[in-house]
Amino acid sequence: MPPTPEGRECRYVRVALDVPLPGLFDYCSAQAVEIGQRVIVPFGRRDLVGMVVDLPAAPAVAVEHVKAVSMVLDDLPAMPGDWLAMVDFAARYYQRPLGEVIMPALPPPLRKAGAYTGQRAAGGPVRRLERRLEKQRKRLERLAEQPGKSPDEPPEKCDPDSAASGHPGLGPAPAGGVNGSDSVPAIQAPSLNDEQRQAVAAIAAVEGHGVVLLRGITGSGKTEVYLHAAQRVLAGGRQVLFLVPEINLTPQLERALRARFDASGADAAGTLAVLHSGMSDGERLEAWLRAFRGEARVLLGTRMAITAPLPRLGLIIVDEEHDASYKQQDGLRYSARDLAVWRGHDRGVPVVLGSATPSLESWNHAMQGRYLRVSLTRRAREVALPAVRMVDTRRLKLEQGFSPQLLDAMERRLALQEQVLVFINRRGYAPVLSCTSCGWVSQCSRCTAYSVLHRLRGRAARLQCHHCGGQAPVPRACPDCGDLDLKPMGRGTQRIEEFLGERFPEARIARIDADSTRLKGSAAALFSQVHQGEVDILVGTQMVAKGHDFANLGLVGVLNADSMLFAQDFRAPERLFAQLMQVAGRAGRHRVGGEVMLQTDYPDQPVYRALQRHDYEGFAQYALDERKVLGLPPYSYQALLVAEGRELAHALQFLNDVRKLPEEDAGAYPMLGHIMLYDPVPLRVVRVANIERAQLLVESHSRPALQRFLAQWSEDLFRLGRESRVRYSLEVDPFEI
Ligand code: ADP
Ligand code: ZN
Ligand code: ZN
Repeated sequence: MPPTPEGRECRYVRVALDVPLPGLFDYCSAQAVEIGQRVIVPFGRRDLVGMVVDLPAAPAVAVEHVKAVSMVLDDLPAMPGDWLAMVDFAARYYQRPLGEVIMPALPPPLRKAGAYTGQRAAGGPVRRLERRLEKQRKRLERLAEQPGKSPDEPPEKCDPDSAASGHPGLGPAPAGGVNGSDSVPAIQAPSLNDEQRQAVAAIAAVEGHGVVLLRGITGSGKTEVYLHAAQRVLAGGRQVLFLVPEINLTPQLERALRARFDASGADAAGTLAVLHSGMSDGERLEAWLRAFRGEARVLLGTRMAITAPLPRLGLIIVDEEHDASYKQQDGLRYSARDLAVWRGHDRGVPVVLGSATPSLESWNHAMQGRYLRVSLTRRAREVALPAVRMVDTRRLKLEQGFSPQLLDAMERRLALQEQVLVFINRRGYAPVLSCTSCGWVSQCSRCTAYSVLHRLRGRAARLQCHHCGGQAPVPRACPDCGDLDLKPMGRGTQRIEEFLGERFPEARIARIDADSTRLKGSAAALFSQVHQGEVDILVGTQMVAKGHDFANLGLVGVLNADSMLFAQDFRAPERLFAQLMQVAGRAGRHRVGGEVMLQTDYPDQPVYRALQRHDYEGFAQYALDERKVLGLPPYSYQALLVAEGRELAHALQFLNDVRKLPEEDAGAYPMLGHIMLYDPVPLRVVRVANIERAQLLVESHSRPALQRFLAQWSEDLFRLGRESRVRYSLEVDPFEI
């Protein structure tokens, strides 16, 4: 072993750190340390937690510059090789420094140096958590011995960053698994229908790795297929990773999973762990640890759960695989769905991608035979898909955006005591405020976007920018001409809610959108009200469209779908179709006669026609043909470079410079012949929070060529970026362009 700078024996360690610099950092450690272990190291004037990813014989820098590791963290075993391989792949594929991938993949308490140093550290967050759980276990044992006292009282609170185990949805269900008095009743699985049985069999027949694309119409009982597939894997002693696109869908599935597995299971209480961004750091740490140790047999979570370590992984399920929320939109811009497929391949386990409207990428894989295609074509309950009617609004007089047909239909459904869903993908009161005499419109002062009118409590209102979050008071008079007659133009969920309250005074109305669900737990409470039948009319954005199994919803009214018809992005029609199929699928799930009414000025658009026929395959074929002609994904591969600066000119200049580089340095870019670099263009919303943005699209018919190109280009970008006044971000497989 080489000596440390201070003359002690040490060994060199190569450490990944979450710092905005490429490359890895070499230190020396006097203590024994393995690859995959975390260490605290000095970096600049700070102490950082990093992960050892290599044990080089000699450092990459001069020995005298190598500093010593401050602390080797041994509260966890080293991260396993498959986990390290996954983060390494993600870093290379998405062109990010390894440390920027590894560290964010760990629960926050595990990456804070401060959690291990100083007086309050007490052995670090893992040991603190263990001590607390041990105390809790003892307390429950004591309580179980004392008759007359309920063991369900919430346990005492500990320090703020520790797990709040009072949350019923997390961790072992407190005492239910122990004494069998769990509040969740054991639910008998319905017997599968033929299609479901075939789907389960097809998944079971996958040997080693294989991707099954489960296309099942809305209400076809995909969940039941997932549960059966999971059950087989659990019976074999393996773990299941179950991904859902939205936090709001976790309670529903959590209930189903607990009812099925906790109540029937061998090791009841420890079966399930849940992981999503709505949890506290302590809760996340606890769930992650239980997955890591193999105690949690099912890990249910949103996209972040894809990076959880799962030593006995046996199956990955990705529900609503087409959903945009699987794509992270900042930092490491990864697709959890794509990583799931990679991970399944790496671990040799099956991956099930489920959707009523698979992404065209996945559908294309299935058509080419790379994925196994399994279909559920009928609804699981004896109900038909809802009838979809287009209401041609071109010659109609609308009342606050509602056609007489839709209002009549609502009235009828309400009279039958059925629920009605009004879907409009626009939150707030009105998208813009305008002056009737001079044409002034409310605009954000920092963005090239309108400010949206929002109602606060009572009659108070504010202007709010949906791009920068900026808020402004509503002017009493027009800032340009002084006229007092300012009018809201158009409608958002709040205005719809207000109108329906006047129009249907007897009805109980609930609104579900990002505003009404801002407080923790409020979304779950609202959805539960709907499920309990305490709501007659539900007004909502895309938040209500996904996954929910509403039992008594008879009618869905869709307002303003046209606003998405002519968007610039080539994926807009695909997204619109998926969204409409989803929202339409909320109608008539448990009883016959469900109905969807879509108001439009363009009833003949192919998207709407396909929707009316519930024809995903027809739509997919049409859209794929179009993409093929235009050479768009999945027939090509893309990356998007976005630059932002104080002035658009700077951003464009930077993009032009980096665009020219490869041609000027042909030796470094032998793959350039396979790469298409488009002209830089300003973003549609050019300015956000006073930062101006432009983008450059890179395209190739070959993924390997694109990857080789990006690897080289990233280095040049970094070099040029440092000298430039702009910030940039590179996104591989961008979702929106
Ligand atoms: P999807 O996710 O495919 O839209 P769900 O999984 O929510 O559909 O199932 C729709 C409804 O059908 C649920 O209420 C579910 O309980 C019910 N269901 C599923 N499978 C069966 C079955 N084999 N027999 C009866 N009902 C079923
Ligand atoms: Zn005016
Ligand atoms: Zn703004």
